[in-house]
Amino acid sequence: MYSKYFLICISLVFGCVTLVAQSTTPTKVIVIGIDGLTVDGIEQASTPNMDKMMQEGSFTLNAQAVMPTKSSPNWMSMLSGVGPDQHRITKNGFDKDVYRNNPTCPQYSEYFPTIFTLLKEQNPIAKTALIYQWRGFKKLINPNDIGYLKNKMIRAESVARKGLKYYQEQQPTLLFLHFNLVDFKGHLKGYKHPKYYKTVERMDEMLKAFLDLADQDPNLCILLVSDHGGIDKNHGGDTPEELTVPLMAYGQNIPTQKIKKAVSNMDVGPSIAKLLQLKTHKCWEGQSIFK
Ligand SMILES: [Zn+2]
Repeated sequence: MYSKYFLICISLVFGCVTLVAQSTTPTKVIVIGIDGLTVDGIEQASTPNMDKMMQEGSFTLNAQAVMPTKSSPNWMSMLSGVGPDQHRITKNGFDKDVYRNNPTCPQYSEYFPTIFTLLKEQNPIAKTALIYQWRGFKKLINPNDIGYLKNKMIRAESVARKGLKYYQEQQPTLLFLHFNLVDFKGHLKGYKHPKYYKTVERMDEMLKAFLDLADQDPNLCILLVSDHGGIDKNHGGDTPEELTVPLMAYGQNIPTQKIKKAVSNMDVGPSIAKLLQLKTHKCWEGQSIFK
């Protein structure tokens, strides 16, 4: 009898410990950044994993890129919570010194503060990583703000594999992955070409392993973002096809909802900050999609 009650007591104590551990374990975020993923691509291609993110998580298929709808300005707006008027990155081949000679955020004269800067300032022991397929990423962020930086990944599958391995070994607080395969195919064949849709499907297949991680870990959130859409074989303009992008969040603590309010790429950084329980930066302008 004693042993039975003893076991019940033990299990109650451990149950409480588990609950406390879950509530105090910081949230972790993996960002799946898909260059040039159009809303049309998601609708036309077979994307069971993106569909699962939308059915079970929070999403909008009406988020808006910033102008111009080029890669660097938009990735920077996601990372930094402001538009090109503040971060000064208005094209892919930008001059780094344009911002440095005229900083818009006081006390940050080298790089505009990004989500990685915020995390380093408020949680210096947090592990962070950026693994990217497009070398243009390198100029956006202060490399001193990131714990692990890996570029020149030739294949998208290598980004996914490297990201999974890094996550499982290091349990980073923030892991940002950039995939270029979809945009590459859009430029090559067109953003409405069957081969573009096939590439969206290839990207979707890579998502599954990350959703599985979130299914196993209540503190992990997967964010899916795209920098811009595309029209014909290009982007950069102000058509709805280029400006409208998806945004999805998936995880056991993410509410199931279609986001109805206006969402901009500038809201991505503040949303990550909210998930990681960080104070937003005084120079940021975007708003979290989460309450
Ligand atoms: Zn791009």
